[in-house]
Amino acid sequence: WSPADALPVCLTSPTVAILGSGDFSRSLALRLVASGVRVVVGSRCVNRIPSGLFPDAVELRNQEGAVSQAVCLVFMAVFPEHYCSLLGLQSALAGKVLVDVSNGAEMNIHGPSNAERLAELFPDSLVVKGFNTVSTWELQTGAHDGSRQVMICSNSTEGKKKVVQLARQMGFHPVDMGGLSAAREIEVAPLRLFPSWSGPVVVTFLLFLFFYGYGFLRGILLPFLAQGGHNAFYRLALDLVNESLPAVALVTLALVYFPGLFAAWLQLWRGTKYQRFPSWLDNWLQRRKQLGLLSFLCAALHGVYSLCLPLRRITLHSVSLKVPHKSSEPWDELGVWRSDLYLSCGVLGLGVLSLLAITSLPTVGNTLNWREFTFVQSGLGYIALTLSIMHTLFFGWDFAFHIEAYPFYMPPSYLLAVVVPCIVLVCRCFLLLPCIFTRLTRIRRGWESKLSQLCIDSKLRSIPQF
Ligand code: NAP
Repeated sequence: WSPADALPVCLTSPTVAILGSGDFSRSLALRLVASGVRVVVGSRCVNRIPSGLFPDAVELRNQEGAVSQAVCLVFMAVFPEHYCSLLGLQSALAGKVLVDVSNGAEMNIHGPSNAERLAELFPDSLVVKGFNTVSTWELQTGAHDGSRQVMICSNSTEGKKKVVQLARQMGFHPVDMGGLSAAREIEVAPLRLFPSWSGPVVVTFLLFLFFYGYGFLRGILLPFLAQGGHNAFYRLALDLVNESLPAVALVTLALVYFPGLFAAWLQLWRGTKYQRFPSWLDNWLQRRKQLGLLSFLCAALHGVYSLCLPLRRITLHSVSLKVPHKSSEPWDELGVWRSDLYLSCGVLGLGVLSLLAITSLPTVGNTLNWREFTFVQSGLGYIALTLSIMHTLFFGWDFAFHIEAYPFYMPPSYLLAVVVPCIVLVCRCFLLLPCIFTRLTRIRRGWESKLSQLCIDSKLRSIPQF
């Protein structure tokens, strides 16, 4: 079954030509036909195209025949290296809109983009860049699945208008990226590998390495060397991972709220919101969602690992479990309080974190107004952070005050993990003090201190006037 079977071809719609009969051409033709557009495919050798490759509604012609049938739109579904081989069609393509669907070959190529080179080769045509960010699979599934955005740019308003209209007819969301100079950006877009995730993933990974390495040194390697063969290396696969994950989750969650506080303190110090933040802070602010999701991932993994640990013990001691034995340990009420509070805070913290993760999904986030979104992401976020800190502190209980907690002068890793989150909470509490809160609110509503105005005036005076 193909989408083309579902819809009849609208015989009155202007014919669109596609040059090239490869993978992209086939998927594009399918989608166009399914959207009610008449399509003619131009190939160097029509006889080579196997029957049934294109829907019956698609006309197959040689390149000249296809271009002459196109009313105004021609898709260039050939690789940019082969644009020169189409120079013979220059006069036939004059005045028509050429849609360049090509992707860049590499990320860092200098010089003109494929679309700009096409515009140089065909100066009498209107070149529009677009559809390259859509894969053949997305073209075939179209409006039902996959990304629906189509980035478009051109120096011709008329050409862009026609492509935008067609993209809408095909069920896509066209995004106007401006003039043809934006083509380079659009061409390399499909080559990028999670650009907004790389920083947060590296930070999370480094934090994990740090806590895992620290735990290995403190709990396994140094005792092994000092006590002459005390072997605890079995802890590497499960225990130590489970010890490191909550620490990473906690610090990463604190890193979500740290840049917001930093920005607030910067605005208070500057006395204005009209000065740009440094670019590193800007970047950090834009990566908060990714950091939050990674924190949620680590916390969820910690939950699963914690459930696995008793399983391991049961497997190991299955034989001894078969023999019922009476516990000789006395009832430790304080210990029960400790473990119950610690578990309860952990479960609640994970629950609130899940809510935050769900609301960060565009489909859910879009249903909230700005106030609701801020309440969830900021209000509930701080609740999650507080619960996670309490979970860690209840876990540590009074152990941190005992000298045995510092073998080789190394504090336990949960103590290290709560430092940044505690700083974040304290800074946040200071921001809520009425004198500070009122000033920050005024600044965010456009008020500026006299000092900041003087600074801006002197800066403006130092810029040469023409
Ligand atoms: P393809 O399967 O190799 O098809 C390219 C077609 O170009 C050939 O079938 C050939 O058709 C035609 N062609 C015209 N002149 C040619 C020449 N001198 N030498 C060789 N072939 C020539 O490639 P494709 O995957 O469809 O990609 C086509 C364009 O779409 C590329 O610029 C690519 O970057 C872009 N694109 C592809 C995808 C994708 O998912 N495949 C996604 C986005 C963008 P005839 O033999 O019938 O002339």
